[in-house]
Amino acid sequence: MARKLLVLGEIREGVLRNVSFEAIAAAKQIADGGEVVGLLLGGRIKELAYTMIHHGTDRVVVVENSNLQDYTPEAYSQAIMQVIDAEKPDGFILGHTAIGKDISPRIASKIKSGLISDTVKVDIIGDEVIFTRPIYSGKAFEKRAIQEGIIFATIRPNNILPLEKDVSRSGEISSIDVQIKDLRTIVKEVVKKASGGIDLSEAKVIVAGGRGVKSKDGFKPLEELAKVLGGAVGASRGACDAEFCDYSLQIGQTGKVVTPDLYIACGISGAIQHIAGMSNSKVIVAINKDPEANIFSIADYGIVGDLFEVVPLLIEEFKSV
Ligand code: FAD
Repeated sequence: MARKLLVLGEIREGVLRNVSFEAIAAAKQIADGGEVVGLLLGGRIKELAYTMIHHGTDRVVVVENSNLQDYTPEAYSQAIMQVIDAEKPDGFILGHTAIGKDISPRIASKIKSGLISDTVKVDIIGDEVIFTRPIYSGKAFEKRAIQEGIIFATIRPNNILPLEKDVSRSGEISSIDVQIKDLRTIVKEVVKKASGGIDLSEAKVIVAGGRGVKSKDGFKPLEELAKVLGGAVGASRGACDAEFCDYSLQIGQTGKVVTPDLYIACGISGAIQHIAGMSNSKVIVAINKDPEANIFSIADYGIVGDLFEVVPLLIEEFKSV
């Protein structure tokens, strides 16, 4: 059944986030031969429309407005509502990012639609679109379909394979003027706190440190290993509470949920709250000097040893490959 899908292209520091390409791939599947329309919000963003087309959208709607330069839920929801009114899509897909999590319930309530958040898989069964999403901190998965309104879902980063970029793809790029009014908040300044480099929730490789790292300096070998592997550094809450690193690196129930291809846990015991944020990683390697540590129960590969001896060996080994 051919459908028209709208996909939000999320921009961060002037580039499209990878999860937007994954959302396009999901939308393509749901559109079932219908149309996939990209949506870009911001200021001076037209050139990113081509990137969306190269990744599979049939066309792109660009909304340039100074109030959309930085994300605010009020301005974004006003703009998105006007685009939904103009385009009348059968579905709307966006990344399960901080912005996606914030904006999607607002839109769902305004358009009186169901919303399936944090999905990791899409299946088309007959005329129905079935989304799979983790529940109980990743211990089980449920399958859901929208009963009311448009097909509206957020996609967890790193779970749906994006389409290959193809610069020969072409499509129409159009602009829509929106009225944004009565804003009660504006962004005055953005203060960056995160580690910089690769975003944790989209990283393909994560090297995470726990209390076993022992100090701020103890994170240095982990940072080097992450750099060699082209990955990002994460942490347990134990390490954050001990002030070895910033809370923006925290992974777990009250931190970020990640699904990289490779997760290397160094000096992390494997508390249930930590596992809740990383157990769906594709390959888990644990380094811990306690052979009884719980992290080994979910690890694909376990190294019983001192991380300060093991991590430098890994760095040397990966450097030589
Ligand atoms: P520890 O449990 O102290 O483990 C340190 C590990 O390092 C040990 O296993 C030890 O054997 C090993 N070790 C020590 N030295 C070395 C060495 N030289 N080489 C190798 N291994 C070594 N935690 C999270 O991570 N994320 C969350 O989101 C989160 N949310 C929470 C929410 C709530 C409501 C609560 C109550 C707790 C939450 N926690 C969370 C905390 C969680 O329960 C644990 O306390 C925390 O994960 C422990 O961190 P850790 O594994 O780094 O430290």
